[in-house]
Amino acid sequence: METLSRHVSGKPMPAGGRSIPIINPANGEAIGSVPLASESDVDEVVAAAKAALPLWSALGLQHRINILFDLRQSLIEAKEELVDLVIAETGKTRSDATAEIVRAIETIGLTVSVSTLYATPYTRAVSSGVNTYEVRYPVGVVAAISPFNFPVIIPLVQTMTALACGNTVVAKPSERNPSALLRIAALFSKAGLPDGVFNVVLGDRVAVDRIVEHPDVAAITFVGSTAVAKQIRTRGVANGKRVQAFGGGKNHMVVMPDCDVAFAADAAVSAAYGAAGQRCMAISVVVAVGAIADPLVAAIRDRAATMTIGDIHEAHAQLGPVITRESRARITSYVANAAAEGGKVLLDGREHQAGDAGWYFGPTIIDHVKPGMAVHSDEIFGPVLSIVRVATYEEAIAVISSHDLGNGAAIFTQDGSVANRFTDDAPAGQIGINVPIPAPAYFHGFAGWKDSAFTETKLHGRDAIAFLTRTKTVSARWMPPAESKLELQFPSGR
Ligand code: NAD
Repeated sequence: METLSRHVSGKPMPAGGRSIPIINPANGEAIGSVPLASESDVDEVVAAAKAALPLWSALGLQHRINILFDLRQSLIEAKEELVDLVIAETGKTRSDATAEIVRAIETIGLTVSVSTLYATPYTRAVSSGVNTYEVRYPVGVVAAISPFNFPVIIPLVQTMTALACGNTVVAKPSERNPSALLRIAALFSKAGLPDGVFNVVLGDRVAVDRIVEHPDVAAITFVGSTAVAKQIRTRGVANGKRVQAFGGGKNHMVVMPDCDVAFAADAAVSAAYGAAGQRCMAISVVVAVGAIADPLVAAIRDRAATMTIGDIHEAHAQLGPVITRESRARITSYVANAAAEGGKVLLDGREHQAGDAGWYFGPTIIDHVKPGMAVHSDEIFGPVLSIVRVATYEEAIAVISSHDLGNGAAIFTQDGSVANRFTDDAPAGQIGINVPIPAPAYFHGFAGWKDSAFTETKLHGRDAIAFLTRTKTVSARWMPPAESKLELQFPSGR
């Protein structure tokens, strides 16, 4: 069993003190140990990132991008090893873990396209002889705090544009499954990333609390649950930092009566149960409009009931375990409560629990759910799909609008005008039209609405550059006017 160590200035360093085990969710076995950083550990990591800033930010943009390409290549070469780490510590199926690594590699490549947005405006002759332009600087040390459910993609999405912009990084992955990111940090060092540019600190809320108050951390990008996101945003801003904090989701998929039942059922099942429902963009509520409800629910049930559970290392596996025993217990209690609240448990995942031999929970369908029931109002983060039945499109919008979260919302319909209305009406940051998980490509923006995100800027896309850099606006005159005179009035164009 390996004890991990943080990655600072290109070198792994031991950290004593508190630790927690890494448990393989598929069999309940301890496979490693994560030392949890103390405040002074965090200080050491931030100091390394601060020390590396002058050198890294002084490199040209193209030079940094070239290094990022080398990092991308090192991930391509280590792809299978990273897939295995994600499977072992996160419990993802092989196909899902592979998709995560592939998308992470794409992310580094796409950082190049985002960097084209780095260029700033220049206006010649804004007044006689005066040119005005903006110059961009990195913000400084950027801390990235990440959740367990995408242990590779999310930390890289949070940090690659930060590096391109000349910042240095302190990454704090989830304490449940940090090995893949640690391995990536080591690969980055080997690929030539200078010491101190990309650091990984291992830890829990003690580390996060220190990051949030650390005077040398300029910006925090947080992804995790809503309660923590809200708290980090409030405290970080109070400490004078830039903070973008992305929280949980409860994503609705409206199915209109005109749509193809098989197509909608395939989409709902894929989006509800992929990654065992542990995605912030998972579909967790299907809102069936009108007469399509009965055939749709039957088709969803048929598909969910025949999914392949377990054997996550095999290519055919479709549903893996959830992340922890506690998580499984939480999901169990929601399903138990749902019946008491008036829901009808059509498919019961509790039957697939494997005791202490892995945190499996089978696909679950709860029909006749209504807003106000806990199974609807809370983010369950497991393989549980609620069905809400409504008579009209307007009622469907009311269901979505009643929710506190607004990460994504999707509609399935063949009617373009209804789809357009939905884009305007649904209060969510990501809209899917016949696309159940509208998680956009890296060069487009991503941020939820309502309590799904506490931020003015998006996680990626053009906004990321605004979050990760600061600008000065320069007004320059190099040709003195022929006749110089006093001008005490405020400058204007006349
Ligand atoms: P989490 O909030 O428990 O943990 C996220 C990070 O915060 C971890 O690094 C953890 O160590 C730290 N943390 C946890 N509790 C803390 C506390 N009290 N104080 C300070 N730091 C704390 O989230 P999780 O269980 O790892 O991940 C699942 C959650 O993340 C879900 O709610 C999911 O919807 C959300 N998520 C959101 C997005 C998005 O883009 N909006 C993406 C992925 C996951």
